[in-house]
Amino acid sequence: MSLRYLTLPVTAFQQNCSIVWCDETLDAAVIDPGGDLPRVQDAVRQHGLTLKAIWLTHAHIDHAGGTGQLARELGLPIIGPHPGDQFWIDGLAQQSQMFGFPPAEPFTPTRWLADGDTVQIGRQTLAVRHCPGHTPGHVVFHSAAIQRAFVGDVLFAGGVGRSDFPGGDHATLINSITQRLWPMGDDTVFIPGHGPESTFGHERRSNPYVQGT
Ligand SMILES: [Zn+2]
Ligand SMILES: [Zn+2]
Repeated sequence: MSLRYLTLPVTAFQQNCSIVWCDETLDAAVIDPGGDLPRVQDAVRQHGLTLKAIWLTHAHIDHAGGTGQLARELGLPIIGPHPGDQFWIDGLAQQSQMFGFPPAEPFTPTRWLADGDTVQIGRQTLAVRHCPGHTPGHVVFHSAAIQRAFVGDVLFAGGVGRSDFPGGDHATLINSITQRLWPMGDDTVFIPGHGPESTFGHERRSNPYVQGT
C-alpha cells in the first residue's frame, strides 16, 4: 500500500505536472495542472484513477493555468497554495497574456495551506511545508512514506528558483531550502517544477547555489 505518482511536463514551459495516487483506492490528486489538460486527463484514465483534488505549489501561470477549468469541469476542490500567492492568482489573466498562454479561468482556492498542514489522498497523507522565496505563498508536498517531495520552483537539479519576480527574495528562498527541505533527509528524491528529479543529498553536495548548506 503506498503512494504512487507520475510526472507529465506540460505547457511551453515544460512544467512538471504530477499525478499522485493511493494504490489502494486509486484516488488521485493532480499537482500543478498548468495546462495541456487533455493529456493530464488521458494519463488519469490510462491508470484507472479517479481525480479527487487539485493541489497547487504556487500560482505562476505554468503551474496554475489549467486549475480553474479543471476544477469547474470535474467539480474538484482546489487545495493551496498559501495565501501569500493571492496576488499571483489575481494576476493570472495578465500572466497568460504576458507569456502567451491560453486565457486562464479565474479560481478561488477551496482550502488555503499553511506550514505544518497535511493533505490526504486515498489512505495516503503528505505534509505541507511553506517555502517562500520564489513566490511568497509557495508550498511543497512531502511524502515521508515514499521519501518524495514535490517542490515546485523552490529547488531544481543544479539550480534554485528565480527570486526576481514581485514578492520574491533570494535569502528567503535559501532559508526555505535549508530549513524546510533539508530536514526531509538527504535520501529524499524531489520532483522539481522543471527538469529532472534529484535528491536533497546530491544537491547539498553539488548544487552551486546551496552547496555545503
Ligand atoms: Zn514559478
Ligand atoms: Zn515554473
